[in-house]
This record gives sequence, C-alpha cells and structure tokens, in this order.
Amino acid sequence: MRKAVFIYSSELEKYEYPPEHPFNTIRAKRVLEILESMDLLTGAGRSVVAPKPAERVVLKKFHTARYLHALKTAARGGWNREALSMGIGSQDCPVFKGLYEYAVLAAGATVVGAEMILSDKADVAFNPSGGYHHAGPEKAAGFCYINDVALACLILAEQGKKVLYLDVDVHHGDGVAYAFYDRSDVMTISLHQNPRTLFPGTGFEDEIGTGQGKGYCVNVPLPVGTYDQAYMKAFKAVVPPLLGAYNPDVIVFELGADALAGDPLANLLLTNNVYAEIINHLLSFNKPILATGGGGYHIGNTVRAWALAWSVFCGADSGEDLDLAVGGVLLESTEWQGGFRDRRLAVSKSQRQAVLPAIEATIKYIKANIFPIHGL
Ligand SMILES: [Zn+2]
Repeated sequence: MRKAVFIYSSELEKYEYPPEHPFNTIRAKRVLEILESMDLLTGAGRSVVAPKPAERVVLKKFHTARYLHALKTAARGGWNREALSMGIGSQDCPVFKGLYEYAVLAAGATVVGAEMILSDKADVAFNPSGGYHHAGPEKAAGFCYINDVALACLILAEQGKKVLYLDVDVHHGDGVAYAFYDRSDVMTISLHQNPRTLFPGTGFEDEIGTGQGKGYCVNVPLPVGTYDQAYMKAFKAVVPPLLGAYNPDVIVFELGADALAGDPLANLLLTNNVYAEIINHLLSFNKPILATGGGGYHIGNTVRAWALAWSVFCGADSGEDLDLAVGGVLLESTEWQGGFRDRRLAVSKSQRQAVLPAIEATIKYIKANIFPIHGL
C-alpha cells in the first residue's frame, strides 16, 4: 500500500491574489472538497497533513537575504523601487495582503512533503498549493515569489538524494532548471509550450546544462496545438528512458494544469488523461514522488485534473470506463457528465501535420545530444 499524503490546511484559504489576477488560490481548497466528498482522502494509507511556514533558514537555501527582506517589507506596506527591481509589485507579481505569509506557507507545504519523503512517512506527497517554478534567487516572476520546488530539490539533494525534477506545467520551469544548470545530482526535465510563443521565453532544446550538469537539463518545447497523443509521443520517447538511466532516489513533479485545452493563458490542447498516464508511468518506477500544483487558469479543469492526479497517486483511479460511474454533479459543471477524466478530443489531419514534425525534431535532438551522456 502506498502512503499518500495530501498537504493542506484551511490556513491557506486566508490569502488571495488580487481579484483581477489569473492565479487563484481557491483551487487547492476545491480539490480538497471534491476528494473529501468522494471519500478519497481517508483509508488505505491516505492522510491529510497541514503545512507549516517554511523557516527562514530553509528559504535562504535558494533565495537571497536581500530578496526575502524586500518581499516581507513590501507585503507590510514598505514596497519600493528596489523591490520592483526584483519583480515584487510588478503586474505579474503584485503585492497583496498576506503575500509573505501565503508564499512562505505554500512553500512550507512542499517542504513538509520533502521531509515526509525523507523520513519515509510518505511515498507520495501532493501539495496542490505549490509549484512556483518561475521564482529566482532574487526575483519574483510569473506569479511566483518563493520557489518551493527548487527548495524541495535542494533539501532532498542535501540529504544525498539523486533528484529527478519533472515539470509538465505549460510554461518552462526556468527557476528550477537554472538553479541546477551546472549540477548532475538534480536532473530537470521540462515539457512546455514552445518558448517563442509563451512566457518565460526560455527552455529551448539546446539548453542542456553546463559543466557537471551538461546533459542533466532537458527541455522539450512543444508546438502550439499539441494534443494528447503527440504529447505522449514526446513524453515516452524522452522521459522513461532518461528516468531509467538516471535512476533517481526521488521524483519532484510540478503538475501545472495549464497545458490543458481551454486554458486562457496558453495554447496546448491536452486532456487530463495525459496526466493520469504520466503519473502511472512515474509510479511504475517505484520511487517516492513529491508532487505540486502549479499553473492552471481554467479553474474547473485544473481542479478536476488535480483530483484525478490524486486518485491515480493513491490507486483509486480505475481507468476511463469506470469513471462514468461517478457523478458530475459534485463537480459543479452542467456540461460534464463523467468523473474526473476529460473526454478525449478529436484531432484533425491538419493539426497532426502542424504539430508532429516539430515534436519529432525535438525528440531527435534530445536523443542525439543528451541520451549519449547517459549511455543511451
Ligand atoms: Zn504555467
């Protein structure tokens, strides 16, 4: 039986980004409510664990003292130009009431997950309030202030663990990739929309790491319009072989749901069936998994995707057919008739023609330039 820990407390509900901002902290609460209503958080090794704020000494493993001071001060009304030069108070990263407390608590939830994996209290830990992969040591960016996933990788690596960081958010996981760009003890793999067409504009396939880290940074840019089968073609060609060859002790998994069709900020066309399939692949390697949320700006789709992810993590997902047995009523959607899983989307011939050549070229590049470094 897998020990699956869902990290959440109502303390997280006290904080909200400004109403006009696309990032909505309510998503985690709604995932919890759906899972509770379907009795998926109790029994069979499952538990809900409350986060605690990340301690300053932990935050300083990644962020500078100057940045942490500016963030805290700005959140208390002391915003200034120096803070803005670090991205704090920009349009993407506004200052809001309780900002510091929220960022530190949400990051602390991921840290708790890392600690529970280290102490063998969890095989899978999921923090839907995490995944702030764009934050830099001295930079707020892309709705992110404290980089919880980079912190988790650092904490795990410090304890001698080999870490595989996998990022399926539609945006390049730049903050984490560059944190470990010259290291081989944390391999980062990010699948994301082509950076020529989306923030943050980095994550091309030729960014493969440097020095000791050469070959340990993997980028899989995907063309606009990428659909399930094309995505899985790229995933299967790249991730399982590298995961097998690298043989990490632990997987950190950033599960942004903004690659789903219908996301208002991006242009991929996935259904959440892809996430279920990816998680099943990861579980087959029998490594502990620390999973986080991330982007996801169609709230209903994101909530359902994360609920599905949890049900797969804890072994409660029985595949597509049985999902029809659970009601859509709980999901507050009149158009949705099934369970957590999306309906498969039709793919046209022109869509295939527009997407597949680019994906095949990326796979070829990675096989030629990264695989040999790992004896593949
Ligand atoms: Zn994103």
